[in-house]
Amino acid sequence: IIILEDVIDTGRTLKKLVHLFSQTNAKEFKIASLFYKPDIYNGEYTIDYVGMEIPDTFIVGYGLDYNELGRNLRAVYQLNQTTMINLVLFGKPGAGKGTQADVLKEKYNLKHISTGDVFRYNIKNGTELGTLAKSYMDKGDLVPDEVTIDMLKQEVEKNPDAAGFIFDGFPRTTAQAEALDNFLDSKDMQINATIALEAEDDILVARLLERGKQSGRTDDQDESKIRNRFDEYNQKTAPLKDYYEKQDKFYSVNGIGDISEISERLSQVIDKL
Ligand code: AMP
Repeated sequence: IIILEDVIDTGRTLKKLVHLFSQTNAKEFKIASLFYKPDIYNGEYTIDYVGMEIPDTFIVGYGLDYNELGRNLRAVYQLNQTTMINLVLFGKPGAGKGTQADVLKEKYNLKHISTGDVFRYNIKNGTELGTLAKSYMDKGDLVPDEVTIDMLKQEVEKNPDAAGFIFDGFPRTTAQAEALDNFLDSKDMQINATIALEAEDDILVARLLERGKQSGRTDDQDESKIRNRFDEYNQKTAPLKDYYEKQDKFYSVNGIGDISEISERLSQVIDKL
């Protein structure tokens, strides 16, 4: 079996394909790709045949599309994205921010920063930051602002060429929102929209408990920790609705339904920005 890919970047799609074919009795298995981005590939599998190595830029044409556009171009072009889009995905734990960020980052060529994921990565790797964050996360409390804000800034700095960001799980306090505005301002950037995914608490608790079974996340397995995260949200994060409404940047979207249905609702907001 030869898997023929158009472009391999992080390797996520490839991982799914390899998984699919590894369950067959294929005698031999090779991977070929027209384009390959070594800078961001996770390196899990060897790419046997590479047409051309390219930097981590967004390409369109010859079957590759950007938001459904450009697929039929006869040559391959690098997208010259001049207008930045920066989004905050807002909502209680379990609202679907991470799931939707995964869809939107592909669709709009944005960099996804989830502060929860960065903390979990640090915990897994036993860093000083991870050890500090763990004590708060285990209880479902927020990690202190100074720590979180510094970390967020570093994550943004790591991506100087990004065409925009999706902030997921940040800001969660007014101090974080103000720090984000000041930081972006210093870089001539700004938040274009804060979009809230709305769903009732009982639905969210059920979703989180289900997620906890699969992910093993301890803060998703205990209803009292979940309720504490909701309390933290109501006290510290909910006031941000007012903060962004004053800036005329707050949008609300129904977070109940199929993943694709909800992505469509979010896209309707983003496409009008
Ligand atoms: P999440 O994956 O977004 O649900 O975040 C999991 C946990 O990470 C939270 O319950 C907090 O303990 C911590 N955390 C994530 N983002 C932040 C933030 N912006 N401020 C403070 N704590 C955070």
